Amino acid sequence: MPDLDTKDQKPSGAPVNKPLGPEDGELIIDTSKMSADKRSAMEVAESAREQEWKHPSFAQQLFMGTFAHQMITDFPVQTEEDKKTGDEFIATLDAYLQKHLDAEQVDATRTVPQDVVDELFRMGAFAMKVPKQYGGLGFTQVNYNRVMMHVASYCASTAVLLSAHQSIGVPQPLKLFGTEEQKKKYFPRFRQHSISAFALTEPSVGSDPSKMATEAKLTPDGKHYVINGDKLWCTNGPIADLLVVMCKTAPKLVNGKERTQITALIVERSTPGIEVVHRCDFMGIRGIQNGLLRFKDVKVPVENILLGEGKGLKLALTTLNTGRLTLPAACTGVAKQCLSIARRWGNSRVQWGLPIGQHEAGREKIAFMASTTLAMEAVSWLTSHWADRHDIDIRIEAAMAKLFCSEMAWKIVDMTMQMRGGRGYEKASSLAARGEVPYPVERMMRDTRINTIIEGTSDIMKLFLAREAMDPHLRLAADILKKHVPIGQKMKAGAKLASFYSGWYLNQWFNSSLWSQHDEMGVLADHYKFIHSTSHRLARTIFHNMGLYRDKLERKQVLLGHLMEVGTELFAMSATCSYASMLAKREGGDASAITLADMFCRDAARRIESHFNAISHNDDQLMNAVGKAVLAGDMRWLEEGVAWIGPRE
Ligand SMILES: Cc1cc2nc3c(=O)[nH]c(=O)nc-3n(C[C@H](O)[C@H](O)[C@H](O)COP(=O)(O)OP(=O)(O)OC[C@H]3O[C@@H](n4cnc5c(N)ncnc54)[C@H](O)[C@@H]3O)c2cc1C
Repeated sequence: MPDLDTKDQKPSGAPVNKPLGPEDGELIIDTSKMSADKRSAMEVAESAREQEWKHPSFAQQLFMGTFAHQMITDFPVQTEEDKKTGDEFIATLDAYLQKHLDAEQVDATRTVPQDVVDELFRMGAFAMKVPKQYGGLGFTQVNYNRVMMHVASYCASTAVLLSAHQSIGVPQPLKLFGTEEQKKKYFPRFRQHSISAFALTEPSVGSDPSKMATEAKLTPDGKHYVINGDKLWCTNGPIADLLVVMCKTAPKLVNGKERTQITALIVERSTPGIEVVHRCDFMGIRGIQNGLLRFKDVKVPVENILLGEGKGLKLALTTLNTGRLTLPAACTGVAKQCLSIARRWGNSRVQWGLPIGQHEAGREKIAFMASTTLAMEAVSWLTSHWADRHDIDIRIEAAMAKLFCSEMAWKIVDMTMQMRGGRGYEKASSLAARGEVPYPVERMMRDTRINTIIEGTSDIMKLFLAREAMDPHLRLAADILKKHVPIGQKMKAGAKLASFYSGWYLNQWFNSSLWSQHDEMGVLADHYKFIHSTSHRLARTIFHNMGLYRDKLERKQVLLGHLMEVGTELFAMSATCSYASMLAKREGGDASAITLADMFCRDAARRIESHFNAISHNDDQLMNAVGKAVLAGDMRWLEEGVAWIGPRE
């Protein structure tokens, strides 16, 4: 990746698109000291990740000490034509949903009515991502996410039905990796009647796919796979016509050892041997059809492989780089709805002589919600536009967007609940029955909680970010960290390392952030300056901790979490400043977006400071000891005095 910060004379980002480390495909993490289980998990994860960086990554450069502001300052905007397409579709959809879909009923009956599903098909809502030449609407990621934001703000279950189908279900991987034959065969079905689903999770496979038990065995004639196994929590599974099923196929020998192979297969739900064992019932998004699916001797033609044998997880990870962007947009929809409810309620509910929004504690919540909603919108639209460009690597930004927006949406919905007081806790149907405005905050809270869990939990997102953010360092240091590498090769790698880091490290202290003005950002210039200098501070901190913990850094999850939170906040600040500047220009001098961006950045800067503080001042040793002791049962006395739930142990 070229260093885009032209004002920095010294290289401040490793040229990660060049093969700095080992050959493509070779693991660059030393797994020799890991337990067999962990090694296997690491090997599966490592061989599934995209090894190359074909395009620049804004966020990875932040971690390497480069604020590539040129990539971000001109906030992308939709073309008039694209915007018109999105506007018209959303207007029709909105009119239909408001009239024909009762989100409370969906929640109460656990059903999205069939006539609504039929109408969504008629509109093309199940084929938004299908290219036009195959009969789809061919929406850009921006328009698709605008639609999903709109639907999610109204009925989360309907949003999940559409999203599980085309953010992770068959359309997205088919678009990215399908053969022409597969595209011609399946794409047109999404315009007519076919709903799809994505089946990866199993009872023993949550965040760790290496434990996959569902197996696809090749028949002796090599023409079919036969699938056996259980798939858990498969959204749309019970009603889907097509599934992407992740299966273990014959292991591959790598350096004399067997390595698990995971393969993605398109499976017709009507194939004999597939049974919906149980429809799962959840706290929220109650209208979704989600189930435990059992596969017993399910015969699938080999032509149904997506991408290739053993490439299933790679396909899942790449699909999620874009697929994951739906969730930030949906969360932004929730935040906007909450803001609207909180504003109206904050003005109308009078207690202690003032509307509750006008008490300082109320204003604080409203200000946080508004400024954070702007940031969520900035992050969602920036990443969506970048996904449409195809010349920026967004794997880090997409994960940051998912992490940031899902966590913030939860905070915002919690604040809205607090502002609504007792009415927040009351069901909308109950509010309506006694003549009050049925704001559905209770349902929104239940619906929103899942977002920090699905498509990668927040903890897993931070680990994913850490791996990708550290990649330039790992590639440089790989030969030195590995045990089996001959001494000569280690010395060569050491010389290369010394030559790179001597210039790079100095640049993290003496760099253009010391004199850059960022006048182009007007009132927000100070925040740009902060991002610029903090990016260097982040890079230094990562480097120091790499030196301190070396190969043990990977286990320092809390420390890594703080570092990744800092990077995520910096990314959100960058996107927000740029977005607000664009909005202010577009709105002919209306400074309200700038004010909100200013507010968000001040909050974010304080959070960043607290993360750095927690890195240098913490009780990690004690925390680890206490956690370990509790797990060992040493403090079971503390659990006494309550009713026992679950099996005795
Ligand atoms: C409503 C719903 C819809 C879903 N839809 C689908 C779907 O359509 N298709 C599909 O395949 N799956 C689906 N899932 C599964 C979902 O993706 C998983 O729940 C998710 O990946 C987490 O897996 P898990 O629940 O088994 O948690 P686990 O992996 O068991 O994790 C439990 C906790 O431990 C933490 N943890 C795990 N590993 C580590 C680690 N190495 N370090 C630190 N912390 C760790 C996690 O962050 C989490 O907090 C769905 C789940 C739900 C509830």
